[in-house]
Amino acid sequence: MKERTLSIIKPDGVRKGLIGEVIRRFEKEGLKIVAMKMVRLDKEEAEGFYAVHRGKPFFESLTTFMSSGPIVVMVLEGEKAIERNRQIMGATDPQQAEEGTIRRMYADNIQENIVHGSDAPETATFEISYFFSSLEIV
Ligand code: ATP
Ligand code: MG
Repeated sequence: MKERTLSIIKPDGVRKGLIGEVIRRFEKEGLKIVAMKMVRLDKEEAEGFYAVHRGKPFFESLTTFMSSGPIVVMVLEGEKAIERNRQIMGATDPQQAEEGTIRRMYADNIQENIVHGSDAPETATFEISYFFSSLEIV
């Protein structure tokens, strides 16, 4: 089933000059980019995006990190896009991530892990609408 997912190149990915690498990987794996922009979240906007994690010990530092610099947000489309994107990213903790995944290859630690990807259809719908109007998705 064709579906859509939200991908973010986090501030560390942008700082490390990995925008091209990440996009190239998605295109190579057959995930189609149907919307894309660069934005900088303020702290409140980062808190709104990661609202499901409010109350967790890492919430404060995560939202500070996510608002620390520009990010690239994209909507990816394809068969099983949600699951495939998460396979390409690898586990949250780069030390647990499989060889060849983006996080294993490039991430410094469990927080600064280069990319975000939606984890289910419902979260994908919420996350896509957090950044894009229907007119911005081609
Ligand atoms: P994402 O939602 O960013 O795609 P994920 O689904 O693999 O990542 P989540 O459990 O949803 O992981 O956590 C969201 C983000 O919060 C992680 O990507 C990471 O940046 C940060 N994070 C998660 N767990 C920790 C932790 N134990 N310590 C610090 N940061 C964490
Ligand atoms: Mg998540």
